Amino acid sequence: MSGLDGVVAAPATTLSELTTLRIGGRPRALLECVTADAVVEVVRALDEASEPVLVLGGGSNLVVAGGDLDLTVVAVRNREVEYLDGSGELIVRAGAGLTWDDLVADTVERGYGGLECLSGIPGSVGATPVQNVGAYGVEVSQILHRVRWFDRRTGVVEWVTPEALGLAYRTSVLKNTDRAVVLEVEFRLDAAGRSEPIRYAELAGRLGVEPGERTDPATVRETVLELRRGKGMVLDDDDNDTWSAGSFFTNPVIRDEALPAVRDRVAGKLGDGVAEQMPAFAAPGGTKLSAGWLIERAGFGKGYPSSSSPARLSTKHTLALTNRGAATADDVIALARDVRDGVREAFGVDLHPEPVWVGCSI
Ligand SMILES: Cc1cc2nc3c(=O)[nH]c(=O)nc-3n(C[C@H](O)[C@H](O)[C@H](O)COP(=O)(O)OP(=O)(O)OC[C@H]3O[C@@H](n4cnc5c(N)ncnc54)[C@H](O)[C@@H]3O)c2cc1C
Repeated sequence: MSGLDGVVAAPATTLSELTTLRIGGRPRALLECVTADAVVEVVRALDEASEPVLVLGGGSNLVVAGGDLDLTVVAVRNREVEYLDGSGELIVRAGAGLTWDDLVADTVERGYGGLECLSGIPGSVGATPVQNVGAYGVEVSQILHRVRWFDRRTGVVEWVTPEALGLAYRTSVLKNTDRAVVLEVEFRLDAAGRSEPIRYAELAGRLGVEPGERTDPATVRETVLELRRGKGMVLDDDDNDTWSAGSFFTNPVIRDEALPAVRDRVAGKLGDGVAEQMPAFAAPGGTKLSAGWLIERAGFGKGYPSSSSPARLSTKHTLALTNRGAATADDVIALARDVRDGVREAFGVDLHPEPVWVGCSI
């Protein structure tokens, strides 16, 4: 297949070299596709041959098993960008293989608003709708215009609107499924240079604006990057706290009726004062709690379990599980189970992992 236009058979490598957690074994083959047509042709051919496929962007939301992997990696690497100004709306159209933060930086440098709160998130443009990427009060669902995908069930390449994607908190019809490959994505921008409304209290405070206000996108980007660096959430080869898959657990959403029991468990363990301060927000389906807060209060502090552990919680942020250099998938899984089970035991709340698992599970 490497003879096809736009397909490069990359040298044999392991997923540890292609993922930000830096773990994962050797695939059967790695095919890099530098055009959308190449992505379609390769995935179509592999599907017809019933060959297992891993569609890969930046590898920043993956936990991959070690050893020999029975799959072919199709790396999406089409990176074109186009600005479309018509019918009163400014749209940016980007290839799925473009690095997400390069797109954010480009829009901000041009003076356009919209993407700035999502600065510094690793990975590719094409993966952003997969888990409805979000940070600092903005989710991709709020700014997404359209997606061009290759529907692997029907074999059709088409533009679809966000409604077709089933976007919800850190999920969509694409997450943990082989439904479709994203080829291009369009986002709505503010041509007048106003940011998205600043909804996140910590960010509003740093910017000195009222929640809900719009402001200068470049200032928002710089502030978001600064906040993210402080939490080890911007990739840095020299900082093991960033050798992660980002937040490892989603914030749990519990039924409203279950909230008093959780508060009672927190009060029983840590006192009424702490229980009253437990973060809890109204969310679709119930009440959203903070996974990081629960992890820390259950006894898993920053850097848990120790400085000599191959896999440990980030020393900056309890929600990131990190590889200190020699961790295996088994090390990460053991730590994830320890944390998940500890939170359940302490407070009766189930945590669910955010990354996609390949060949292994928690
Ligand atoms: C330090 C750090 C900070 C992070 N911060 C955030 C954050 O603030 N908010 C947030 O939401 N996430 C965050 N993440 C998680 C991650 O960056 C995002 O989920 C990102 O969108 C993943 O993109 P990727 O290209 O690396 O996807 P990959 O890890 O390569 O793939 C993830 C999944 O998407 C699928 N996929 C990838 N590309 C495509 C495509 N073109 N078509 C169809 N499926 C595809 C893959 O098959 C896989 O199932 C963070 C991760 C790290 C390491």
